[in-house]
Amino acid sequence: MGFSSLGLQATLVKSLAEQGYQEPTQVQQAAIPVILKGQDIMAGAQTGTGKTAAFALPILQLLSQEENSKGDSTQSAAAGTATPSPRALVLTPTRELAQQVHASFEKYGVHLPFFSRLAYGGVSINAQVEGFNAGLDILVATPGRLLDHLAKGSLTLAQLKYLVFDEADRMLDMGFIDDIRRILKQLPEQRQTMLFSATFDAATLGLSKKLLNQPEMIQVDEANSAAEQVEQIVYTVDPDRKRELISHVIGARNWHQVLIFTRSKQSADMLAAQMSKDGVKTQAIHGDKSQGAREKALEEFKSGQTRALVATDVASRGLDIRQLQYVINHELPFNPEDYIHRIGRSGRAGNSGLAISLVSTEEEYLLAEIEAVLGQALPQQWLQGYEPDLDREIKNNKKTSRSGQKRRAKQRAGGGRNRRR
Ligand code: AMP
Repeated sequence: MGFSSLGLQATLVKSLAEQGYQEPTQVQQAAIPVILKGQDIMAGAQTGTGKTAAFALPILQLLSQEENSKGDSTQSAAAGTATPSPRALVLTPTRELAQQVHASFEKYGVHLPFFSRLAYGGVSINAQVEGFNAGLDILVATPGRLLDHLAKGSLTLAQLKYLVFDEADRMLDMGFIDDIRRILKQLPEQRQTMLFSATFDAATLGLSKKLLNQPEMIQVDEANSAAEQVEQIVYTVDPDRKRELISHVIGARNWHQVLIFTRSKQSADMLAAQMSKDGVKTQAIHGDKSQGAREKALEEFKSGQTRALVATDVASRGLDIRQLQYVINHELPFNPEDYIHRIGRSGRAGNSGLAISLVSTEEEYLLAEIEAVLGQALPQQWLQGYEPDLDREIKNNKKTSRSGQKRRAKQRAGGGRNRRR
């Protein structure tokens, strides 16, 4: 099925061909015709499925149809003396995701006359205002900075027609609900709303009820779909040998672009510093780093100047590194959905990926939670030379429950749950 059969106009089909896209992805096939009809949607789709194009393409087309029906020149509707007001707004939880969504609008809309602008915190607000004044059709914003602009009067939402909540679950996880409520008060009643979320829990469903008007539900994948594209390996290893194992694997297998996850900012910094000492050039990104430092680290990683990037879950959200093959979990996340997001950084848009998780015996309960969400067992292996210290395990077992002890004793008798290398 080609893109034009979804009802997309020639200018957009042309830019997609220039991007080398041959076939619409599943979420694009499902969402594009519905959005073009003017209906609200609620889509369960995670990053890596092509969800950005699934809303960006029809929005660009709807904007373009409006321009044509007005018989206007190609000037941006917002350029001029009135307070700028975007016709499309995409709300994202992080700056990184905002940048990627904005870049997608620019890429797909390259043959169209619309201005896409960014609004996120951590950078000068005045430069953003200047951009709005030069023309504003599409705004991609994080909630906090959008509210700053609304308070300052640098833009209004009076002309808004298309609203997208991207990664709504993460926006709520990150505590943006109050900001969202404040933004909602300033939105016109008449609008088309699209909500994308990797998962739907009670909070996301609650938000969707407030926002959406008779939405079409689109569920392209089960939450575990990313997992199908990505080979998953779990190594049981003692916590104090994890860093050594990572540097060894990257060196011995000659990997050049590896994204590593830690649970905390401190361990991200520490791991990056130690790995660099091991001779693997590594940088860390997390919320305590300035926007400039995060962008620089990401650029250096993408261009191959650094070999490994250590990220926390929040900082990694929305990172789109095309062709990324390797993800390593230094620690398992507390939230099983984060595991799916992490491994979904690799194996994007049909490419293959490999995710290695390092699990200490103390983290086995987190592994069990992940297995439950995936509906799939992730057999533990030992990497030769990095086998867990059984004496240490026995000492630990004394502290844990009898059932845990029995399970581990069984595993030990079998040489690990599924010992391979
Ligand atoms: P997203 O899920 O929007 O973050 O997209 C993930 C990646 O897939 C991005 O690098 C997109 O450029 C790419 N992509 C999106 N749609 C397609 C498509 N139809 N064919 C090939 N690649 C695509």
